[in-house]
Amino acid sequence: MKLNDLNKIAALYNDTETMPLLFIGHGNPINAITQNEFTVEWNKIGKSLPGPNAVICISAHWETNGTFVTTMDKPRTIHDFYGFPAELFEVEYKAPGSPYLARETKKLIAKTSVELDNNWGLDHGCWSVVMHLFPEANIPVIELSLDYTKQPQWHYELGKELSFLRNKGILIIGSGNIVHNLRMISWQNKDGFDWALEADRKFKKLILNDEYTELIDYKNLGIEVQLAVPTPEHFLPLLYILGLKEKNESISFFNEKTELGSISMTSLMINRK
Ligand code: ZN
Repeated sequence: MKLNDLNKIAALYNDTETMPLLFIGHGNPINAITQNEFTVEWNKIGKSLPGPNAVICISAHWETNGTFVTTMDKPRTIHDFYGFPAELFEVEYKAPGSPYLARETKKLIAKTSVELDNNWGLDHGCWSVVMHLFPEANIPVIELSLDYTKQPQWHYELGKELSFLRNKGILIIGSGNIVHNLRMISWQNKDGFDWALEADRKFKKLILNDEYTELIDYKNLGIEVQLAVPTPEHFLPLLYILGLKEKNESISFFNEKTELGSISMTSLMINRK
C-alpha cells in the first residue's frame, strides 16, 4: 500500500488507541435470539470496548474463490441456515455498511487482489454475534471473505495486513468455532466429547504460548484436532486474529465451554498489556 492511501484512511478516521481483537465462537444460530451465558458475555464485551468506528468481520460462513469485501451501504441480513424457528428468519440486523472502508481495505491488502462485493451482506456468522455486541446496529459492519483455495499460512499472513486499521478505531472480529464437527453433534451430550475437550485444551495452550506454526499446521496436531477441524472454515478466522496480535499484547479467553458434544464456544480477546 502507498503512503498516499494510508493518508486517505487517516482523513476519515482519527488515530485511536489500538483496538482490541476478537475471535468469537458463534455456535448455534439460535444464539442470535437467545439470552444465554454466551450472548450475555458478547453484550458485556460490546459495552466494554472503546466504541469502534466500524467493524470488519471475517466469518466462517462466507467462503469464496478469491478474497472479497462487502461494499454495499446497507448490507442485507442473510439467513443462511435451515430448520430453525420462523422467529430467527425474521431477524434483520440493520447496521450500515461502509463502502469507504471496503475500498480502503481493498487498497490496504497487497497479498491478493481483493474484489468489491455488492451481493453478499451479513451472514449469521457475523450478525448473530454482532447484534449482541452492538444491539443498536449503529456501527458500520463489513465482511471480508475466506478464499477456500488458499492454505492456512496464507490466511494467517493476510490477517497481518489489516493491522493498520486497528489504530483507526476499526474492530476486527474473526467468527468461527475452534472445535466444530457438525456430523458428530450429540443433543444428549451437553458438554463435550473427550476428543473435543482435548482439542480445545490443546488449542488454548498453543494460543497462549504464541505457537502459531503448530496452529497453522493444525492438521498435524493429532486425531483429536483432526476430529475438531474436519473442514477449515470455522478455524481459519482464528488465524486472521492471531496474525494481528502484537508481541506486547495479551490474550484472555471467554465462553470456554463445549456444547452438543462437538462444538467449542471458546473465544478470545487480544488487548494491549
Ligand atoms: Zn458456523
